[in-house]
Amino acid sequence: MKKIQMVDLKGQYEGIKEEVNKGMQEILEETSFINGPHVHAFQKELEEYLDVKHVIPCANGTDALQIAMMGLGLKPGDEVITADFTFAATVEVIALLQLTPVLVDVDPETFNIDPEEIKKAITPNTKAIVPVHLFGQTADMDAIMKIAKEHNLYVIEDNAQAIGADFHSKNGEIKKAGTIGDVAATSFFPSKNLGCYGDGGAIFTNNDELAHTIRGIVNHGMYERYHHDVVGVNSRLDSFQAAVLRAKLKNLDIYNEARKEAALQYSTAFADNEHIVTPVRRGDCDTHVYHQYTLKIGNGKRDALAKHLQEKGIPFGVYYPIPLHLQKAYVDERYDEKNFTVTNQLVKEVISLPMHTELEDDQIQHISKTIIDFLN
Ligand SMILES: *Cc1c(COP(=O)(O)O)cnc(C)c1O
Repeated sequence: MKKIQMVDLKGQYEGIKEEVNKGMQEILEETSFINGPHVHAFQKELEEYLDVKHVIPCANGTDALQIAMMGLGLKPGDEVITADFTFAATVEVIALLQLTPVLVDVDPETFNIDPEEIKKAITPNTKAIVPVHLFGQTADMDAIMKIAKEHNLYVIEDNAQAIGADFHSKNGEIKKAGTIGDVAATSFFPSKNLGCYGDGGAIFTNNDELAHTIRGIVNHGMYERYHHDVVGVNSRLDSFQAAVLRAKLKNLDIYNEARKEAALQYSTAFADNEHIVTPVRRGDCDTHVYHQYTLKIGNGKRDALAKHLQEKGIPFGVYYPIPLHLQKAYVDERYDEKNFTVTNQLVKEVISLPMHTELEDDQIQHISKTIIDFLN
């Protein structure tokens, strides 16, 4: 058996080596390091893949979230609702822009923001909702879009973990994650489902005016050279990263299928275990692209299992160990513990297993067996 890794980027590289190396060589010969032809081509290819009008590449996923919020013209004091159970970047940019983060609890089965909790958190100052499509599955966008429409709120999708996932609306429409709300942010951090070999990110929108605004914001607020109309930032995807992303985008559906296949093997192995809850898919037809394969371990045995896996040399992750409302940077007297029962429980139960495109059957069997033997 090959050594088990949480993410195997080297193995994946072997499959696209020629194309990536050729792209890198071209960029070196052209010296088109910033905003070169590869960046432009990648932007077009991603627009086509997602069926979205505008993709605006930028430097990383955190910038993408910040720029999306700047583009919408959110102002200090505006309240932005997001999930308590997510990576900190989401709440970080809300706070950085001096908007008011409003953290709400999540669904215990899908780990995604709970629409009923969003409703309870709305006030006259609420301006936007940021659903995070956590671990590779979209939040309940039908319910979220309905709430947003009723209360005239913007929806900013944090799609850093679900690129390539399909959302099946109750009205029969199928849309790619990140193309449902007003605007979306994604990350191309190396370990993401579509990752580059450094930092990268992008913003997506179908709104022409917003796209124009955002294109200026990413470039120092310039719409005409050396005319700075708004306060912007400097956030660019470099050409080397675009070359990597072009090679990977061609394979994204194949990569996501490999993840789904690995997830199915894990879930089949764990199916009859009373201490393990395998990932739940929302509805019958939404795709889950398993950015993470995350179990819930009952019986208070999660930490003991984590220790055991460490001893056995099996990598794992605990995403996320602390609810955002309890993080020092984001504690606030507005929050009431009784509104966070789900997240407070999840942080004690979740454990994510190795998940990537190169997992082999014998590795999955070994990981599953080690876990089942320990819990029984
Ligand atoms: C990775 C991630 C981000 C941030 O992306 P970076 O490219 O690392 O800045 C934001 N939100 C979520 C949910 C993420 O997983």
